[in-house]
Amino acid sequence: MTRSITILGATGSIGRSTSGVIQAHREEFRVEAVVGGRNATALAKIAQDLGAKFAALADEGAGEALSLALSGSGIRGGAGHAAVLEAVDRDADIVLAAISGTAGLAPTHAALKPGRRIALANKESLVCAGGVFMADARRLGVQVMPVDSEHNALDHALAAGSDRDVEKAVITASGGPFRTWTKERIARADAREASAHPVWSMGSKINIDSSTLMNKGLELIEAHHLFDLEPERLDVLVHPEAIVHGLVQWSDGAVTAGLALPDMKVPIANALRNQNRLKMDLPRLDLAAIGRLSFEQPDEGRFPCLSLAKAALRTGGAMPTILNAANEIAVEAFIADAIGFYDISELVERVCSTFFGRNIAAPSTVADALRIDQEARQAARQLLPTLTGTARL
Ligand code: NAD
Ligand code: MG
Repeated sequence: MTRSITILGATGSIGRSTSGVIQAHREEFRVEAVVGGRNATALAKIAQDLGAKFAALADEGAGEALSLALSGSGIRGGAGHAAVLEAVDRDADIVLAAISGTAGLAPTHAALKPGRRIALANKESLVCAGGVFMADARRLGVQVMPVDSEHNALDHALAAGSDRDVEKAVITASGGPFRTWTKERIARADAREASAHPVWSMGSKINIDSSTLMNKGLELIEAHHLFDLEPERLDVLVHPEAIVHGLVQWSDGAVTAGLALPDMKVPIANALRNQNRLKMDLPRLDLAAIGRLSFEQPDEGRFPCLSLAKAALRTGGAMPTILNAANEIAVEAFIADAIGFYDISELVERVCSTFFGRNIAAPSTVADALRIDQEARQAARQLLPTLTGTARL
C-alpha cells in the first residue's frame, strides 16, 4: 500500500535524506506536500523531484519567487503561516517533521491528527513542549516515531522487553569535533571549527549543539518524553565511531543495543515504515573491518551544556523550555561570531538561574510553551552584551 507523506523542513539535511529514501522507493511512498523556510528555488526543485501536490514556504515574502519557480509544474505553492498550516492540514498518512529549532513546534503540533504517524526529527518540539505534545499525540491516537538515530535505536531496543524491566536507557554521542581538544583550545574555537562534525553532515544549529554536547542534553529530554523514562534511568555515553546508537540495560544485567552505520537514511526509513523494514541499498555494517568500537564518559567540565541540560531535566517544570530558548539565542550569536564558545553555556546557565526561583510549571498548551520560550529569549538577549568570558561583542 502506498503511503502519502508531507515533509516539513524538506530543504534541510534531514529533508534531503528523506527525499533520497522516497525517490529510491517510489512504489511505497507518494508525497502530498513539502514545506521549507525561505529558499524558493530549492523547495520548488524538491517539490518537482518528488511530485508533490503542494509546496509551502514559511517566509511570507518568498511567495512570488516560489510561484515563479513552480510555474508550469502544475504544483500549487503558497507562502506564510497559513500556507504552512495548509500543507500540514492536507491528507497525509505520515508527516515527517524536520524543521530545525523551536520554529518547528507549532507546525509539528498542528500535524497531530487522528490515525496519522509523525516521523519526528525536530527534537526541539519535545524539549520545548514535550508534555503537551506527547499527551495530545496519545489523546488523538497519533504514533510518534523518532527519526533521531539514538531514539530510533532505543525504540527498537525497548521493544525487546517490558518497560518496567528497563534499568537504564543510554544514548551515545560521537563527542563532536572537540572531543579530544583541551578546554583552552575549545574556548578559542569559532563556528566554522564547531561545525566540522567528524561523523554526521547536518544543519547549522544541530552542528553547533553537537560541538557543545547540548545536542545530547536535548536528546536526554527528548528520550524522557518519547519513552516516559525518568531522568535517573537515562544516560549518555561517548562513542566516537557512532555505530552503536542506543542501548537498553535490563534488570537482569542484559543489554540490547541498536547498531547501524551512521547514515540518517536508516532511521528515516525506519520511522516512515515502522516495523516493516525497507530494503535499503546502503553499505552494510562490517564489524570485522571496523575492528574495534570505543566508549568513554562525557566530560562535563569541557562540555558544561550537557550538565545544564541534565539539571533542567531534573528540575522539570518549564526549565527545559527555558534552557532550549536560551540555547537557540546563544547558538545564533555564536554563529554570528558575536560571542565565544563558552559564552553559549554561560548564557544558558545565567538565563536558567534567572528563572530558577520562579518554579514555572511545565507548559500546559503550545501557546503557553511559546510564551515561556519568548520570555526566556528576551532574557537571553538582554544578557548577551554582559557576557565576558571569551565574548567578542
Ligand atoms: P537544517 O537546518 O538542515 O534544515 C532545517 C529545515 O527547516 C530547512 O528545510 C529549513 O528551510 C526549514 N525551516 C527553518 N525554519 C523554518 C520555519 N520557521 N518554518 C518552516 N521551515 C523552516 O536542519 P537539519 O539538520 O535537517 O535538522 C532538522 C531537525 O532534525 C532539527 O530539529 C535537528 O535537531 C533534527 N535532527 C537532525 C539530524 C541530522 O542529521 N541533520 C539528526 C537528528 C535530528
Ligand atoms: Mg541524534
